[in-house]
Amino acid sequence: MNKGMGGNMSLKFIPIGGMGEVTKNMYVYETPNDMVIVDCGIGFPPEEEGLPENMLLIPDFSYVLAHQNKLRALIITHGHEDHIGAIPYFLKKVRVPVYAARLPAGLIREKLKERGPKKADIKEVGDGQRVKLGRDFSFEYIRLTHSIPDTMAIALTTPLGVVIHTGDFKLDPTPLDRRLAQLGKIEEYGRRGVLLLASDSLRSEREGSSPSERIVGETFFHEIQKTKGRVFVTMFSSDVSRIQQAIDVADALGRKVTLAGLSLEKNFQVARDLGYLAVSKNQVIDNAKLKKLPVSEQLILVSGSQGQSNSALAKMTRGGHRSFKIGQGDLVLFSSDLIPGNEDRVRNLQEDLRGAGAKVIYLEEIPEIHVSGHGYAEDLVRMLRAAQAQYLAPIGGTPTSMPEYAKLARGFNYRDDHIFILESGQILEFYPFENRIAARISGRVNLREFSVTQD
Ligand SMILES: [Zn+2]
Repeated sequence: MNKGMGGNMSLKFIPIGGMGEVTKNMYVYETPNDMVIVDCGIGFPPEEEGLPENMLLIPDFSYVLAHQNKLRALIITHGHEDHIGAIPYFLKKVRVPVYAARLPAGLIREKLKERGPKKADIKEVGDGQRVKLGRDFSFEYIRLTHSIPDTMAIALTTPLGVVIHTGDFKLDPTPLDRRLAQLGKIEEYGRRGVLLLASDSLRSEREGSSPSERIVGETFFHEIQKTKGRVFVTMFSSDVSRIQQAIDVADALGRKVTLAGLSLEKNFQVARDLGYLAVSKNQVIDNAKLKKLPVSEQLILVSGSQGQSNSALAKMTRGGHRSFKIGQGDLVLFSSDLIPGNEDRVRNLQEDLRGAGAKVIYLEEIPEIHVSGHGYAEDLVRMLRAAQAQYLAPIGGTPTSMPEYAKLARGFNYRDDHIFILESGQILEFYPFENRIAARISGRVNLREFSVTQD
């Protein structure tokens, strides 16, 4: 019997999170024999009265746990919290090897040190290395670019064909680590035939292509140069490329740097230890030392770019931070993608900062320097053309960006029945049918909302 196209063979793709809500990314690929998971991230609940400030959302693991006898691997695309943040909670429920590139592997190990479990099987995989998983799956990483080094797409070989799962990406022409996206490798897969492209779709509404991460550094330079007071830069604590640029610009402009925020400090340490950050000696110092310098020589990297009320930035704004209080003459640069749903609290925090006399610059609002870690329409189309997949499933998007992605695809002769805009929990099933592979939504996994409080 031909196992590959055998009678009962099917492939299920089930987003457990990450659809419409952007965060909490977790995706299941499943055959009758084996199951692999891609990513395991956290989400941030919308701010509501009465909710504890340190509450996080985690994906509903029930479906995966119910089928754990065939679970072979958790494969990680990159080291952002919304892709790795829930791993400790997951590994406490099930033992499974975690595959990740070098930097995300380091960040995951650090996370596990803090939140356990103690014993975990983390396997570092480089791009181009093929890994076999159970009977039915194997995968290799294909290097892409984003706002953190070691961002990978996954080429997952299944009995019914190859899936290209991009995770978050943009196509940066001048990445800081000079390692370009391996679009050619995706083209190679495309020539041989790709069944499904599960593609980042978050910025599909924006025309053209996403500017290089380097632009952020130029903007930092431009804005910081004009400032005489202290400079505060806030970003995702795992945006290693931006951390590097802020440090470089500070160095060039005669400012020392300090870090404020536990996760920011940890990620900095891991990335520096693994050689992903180049920082000269004495350029980064502790809070107390920095405070003694003239204000024009201070740059503070601070977590809290999403307006979280328990963050270091919120405390520096509203009082309660041990070392800093932002006020008159200070500049605050917001340098991160805004996670949909956080608009109000970011706006409130910025109003409070302005009220305290600080100048606030929100990079996403400056039209000529829009820079996102995610591809714009043209980048997404380049991916679409490279993969030439039979079927498309936009992932990691909002309720407006996913249909927008479908619109782009229709411009490349994709019929509606080959584009699946899924909701979390919907089962997209592929199966052999009259000499081809057909696809349909074959059911739904019931998902509940799960939250944890982080200390
Ligand atoms: Zn990301």
